[in-house]
Amino acid sequence: MRELFLVDPDVEELGWQDRALCAQTDPEAFFPEKGGSTREAKKVCLTCEVRDDCLEYALMKDERFGIWGGLSERERRKLKRRAV
Ligand code: SF4
Repeated sequence: MRELFLVDPDVEELGWQDRALCAQTDPEAFFPEKGGSTREAKKVCLTCEVRDDCLEYALMKDERFGIWGGLSERERRKLKRRAV
């Protein structure tokens, strides 16, 4: 099960994590080795109902590793740059 709960439990907005599809899948797919494939993880994200919340959370927390909301760290960085 993916460790999505290493965050402040007092933060109320984390209700979305209960519906995180990745929690039911192989966590390693979401944290591939450098240069490893992210395809499987992204495929799961595509059908995840909390994708927007997840991405927003990762952007807010400046998550450095893993796939969040269907985007890799690099893709999230790009998105952030575009938003500034
Ligand atoms: S969007 Fe992807 S990483 Fe985020 S909760 Fe859903 S399955 Fe997990």
